[in-house]
Amino acid sequence: MKKILQDYTKEELATMVKPSFRAKQIINWTYHKYALSFDEMKNLPKNMREELDKEFTLTPLKTLMVQDSKDGSRKYLFELHDGHTVEVVLLLMRDKQFHEDGTIKHQKRYTVCVSSQVGCKVGCAFCLTAKGGFMRNLTAGEIVSQLLMVKKDNDIDANRRVNIVYMGMGEPLDNLDNVVQAIKIFSDPDGLAIATHRQTVSTSGLSSKIKKLGDMDLGINLAISLHAVDDELRETLMPINKAYNIKSIIDAVKKFPINARKRVMFEYLVIKDVNDQMESAKKLLKLLNGIKAKVNLIYFNPYGGTEFKRPHQEDMFRFQEYLTKRGLHCTIRESKGLDISAACGQLREQEKDGELNARN
Ligand code: SAH
Ligand code: SF4
Repeated sequence: MKKILQDYTKEELATMVKPSFRAKQIINWTYHKYALSFDEMKNLPKNMREELDKEFTLTPLKTLMVQDSKDGSRKYLFELHDGHTVEVVLLLMRDKQFHEDGTIKHQKRYTVCVSSQVGCKVGCAFCLTAKGGFMRNLTAGEIVSQLLMVKKDNDIDANRRVNIVYMGMGEPLDNLDNVVQAIKIFSDPDGLAIATHRQTVSTSGLSSKIKKLGDMDLGINLAISLHAVDDELRETLMPINKAYNIKSIIDAVKKFPINARKRVMFEYLVIKDVNDQMESAKKLLKLLNGIKAKVNLIYFNPYGGTEFKRPHQEDMFRFQEYLTKRGLHCTIRESKGLDISAACGQLREQEKDGELNARN
């Protein structure tokens, strides 16, 4: 089987190709010009292109499906070489920019939500990704290629700023080595040039791995999927809490190196009658006391076969108001692309059920 070119950093490629300066040219073709074959790399000698083609593939992913949402987000289902599938979401936010002449310009900001595993071992009760079980880890190249495919498909200029969130399928810290390699490849200034402070790793709370990642001091952002404020409830929602309880997560977060201008994000998936009561808001405020935190309340996005329900808007607002009034940053997030089965794992499940039609 051919090696995946995007699995390697520029420095590693420089030791694999001769002469080594060719590595930078290959990186440029791959990440700036979105080349899909070595034959396109016209400033490389023909025999070298042929040799590279024998050894490497540039296309580890195949597009199976694309779905557009009314809110501008776009969801992809990609097939891996072994037939497994992963989801990726392109989120589009409009930022207001105020100019000195008094005009306001709207700028599009892209965020790509990438997957790190096929399925997930963590097994959260509310998560559709978990229902399919765990298949395998993605390689760094399979993670990096998700962004490349999305940039190419949307004609996103190589120099446009893009944010990465590891909030797709899988638990990134359960695939730490490959995720760290992907973070490094994403941030290569000669390649995709996504600074580490534009990359956010979201975790269900593997405390020992949070510590390990923190010790690497990469400059990335951290998001904790908390979802519950006492261990008893959290264990029923997220079985991983038996191994890593809330206190161990908070301890690990306190030691995590955070950029001076940033905050650790705590994701709180709100489920009706499960964790939407004011009692939880009070405990949450207490729990995050002393941490440079921001809370993101997420509406639970229901799907067929789940007993969990979407919370009422008033309860979300009340929860948010309680926290913000007491100085804790708190935003409410509608699962983006609600009409296209927003939360990760949902598109893949529909495809298995044969509900969707492929675009490509
Ligand atoms: N495994 C990591 C990253 C992927 S999950 C983690 O758990 O943090 C990304 C986010 O999707 C998590 O915060 C998760 O809680 C959320 N999610 C899962 N199922 C959802 C649903 N049905 N509705 C809304 N969000 C959901
Ligand atoms: Fe895995 Fe995250 Fe889903 Fe939990 S929420 S099962 S950790 S992907």
